[in-house]
Amino acid sequence: MRNTRPAPEPPEPLSPLVDAHTHLDACGATDAESVAAIVDRAEAVGVRQVVTIADDLDAARFAVRAANWDLRVFAAVALHPTRANALDNAAKAELEKLAADERVVAIGETGLDYYWPGKLDGCADIEEQVEGFRWHIDLAKRLDKPLMIHNREADHDLLAVLLDEGAPETVIFHCFSSDANMAIACAEEGYVLSFSGTVSFKNAHELREAAKLVPDELILVETDAPFLTPHPFRGAPNEPYCLPYTVRALAEVREQDPAKLAKITTANARRVYGI
Ligand SMILES: [Zn+2]
Ligand SMILES: [Zn+2]
Repeated sequence: MRNTRPAPEPPEPLSPLVDAHTHLDACGATDAESVAAIVDRAEAVGVRQVVTIADDLDAARFAVRAANWDLRVFAAVALHPTRANALDNAAKAELEKLAADERVVAIGETGLDYYWPGKLDGCADIEEQVEGFRWHIDLAKRLDKPLMIHNREADHDLLAVLLDEGAPETVIFHCFSSDANMAIACAEEGYVLSFSGTVSFKNAHELREAAKLVPDELILVETDAPFLTPHPFRGAPNEPYCLPYTVRALAEVREQDPAKLAKITTANARRVYGI
């Protein structure tokens, strides 16, 4: 994705917030200094902690380093479902080692992506994705860490694999993008749903209906930066400091006070990640 628009203005601060899912490497961070610069910008508007997520091995190595450089950063490691075909024995061994680091607070992002196979060269097929997903579920259970789900157009199979494999104690659906029925099904299982800037998109009617139904104790907020920049900045580069825009949009949908929603989502993030 190419960002051609200028960076969004910093929002009015909203505190405290935790960005439950971001990609600091894809935001351009390469070393301790650049990580701190992004997190400083976030902290200036009330985003006090961020969880940076890996989607391949390089990103996993980086995420663990970033979380050790800066105490406001925590990591999650996995191979993204579209890369599940790279999960050979060497990759498994390295991921297991990285995942055991005390700064790693979740296994992810893993799950199923039914959008990209056939469209993206080298994308894991569905069978490979299911196999990789099962391995990550097992890893989360063995390490007793939350499982961070990426779900694209795979609602039914995702729930089926989780049920079949036996879900870990904490399951987080990042960038929840499904409808009200899926939100209800997830809430019944006690799965945590994390909302990104997509909830602010004007055409996201079904998603907003879903967002209204999520119980307070199961809701998180995230940027998924540098992607999914909230309205009215779609197409501009996203960063953790943009989170208050999404929280205000979500609060409007849920008819909640933004400050209260900030407190609720922060308490949830600290509980589920143990941070
Ligand atoms: Zn994702
Ligand atoms: Zn992501």
